[in-house]
Amino acid sequence: MAYVYDDTNIFARILRGEIPNKTVYETEHTLAFADIAPKAPAHVLVIPKGPYVTYDHFCAAASAEEIVDFSRAVAEVVKLVGAEAHSGGKGFRAITNAGEHGVQEVPHFHLHILAGRNIGPMILSED
Ligand code: 5GP
Repeated sequence: MAYVYDDTNIFARILRGEIPNKTVYETEHTLAFADIAPKAPAHVLVIPKGPYVTYDHFCAAASAEEIVDFSRAVAEVVKLVGAEAHSGGKGFRAITNAGEHGVQEVPHFHLHILAGRNIGPMILSED
């Protein structure tokens, strides 16, 4: 079944400039901005500007140019928040939630970059 993109979602509204955001980094195909409810000292959301619902949707349907642009933007954001583990930073966690079991709140693909403290265990226990 094809993905159905709901263009009334909050990130689509941010991309249209209808809702303000704290932009961290922007390119032709990608926007990175501060999460409104940060879970770490640095909590940045990196989103493609195209209408992709989930990470797998983006990987399957985005152009090579969009995918490269997004990936390079992630690298820039990690650098901007000082989390490059290979050059003095203490690292980060990247999370993307998809669908019901992934507990995705906003149906526009986004990668959470969390940094600035030890983020703890990867997931909580199953119960
Ligand atoms: P999800 O659960 O879909 O992976 O994460 C959605 C994220 O979007 C949450 O961390 C939430 O705090 C963030 N968020 C929701 N609404 C807004 C908003 O209007 N502005 C910003 N900057 N972040 C938002």
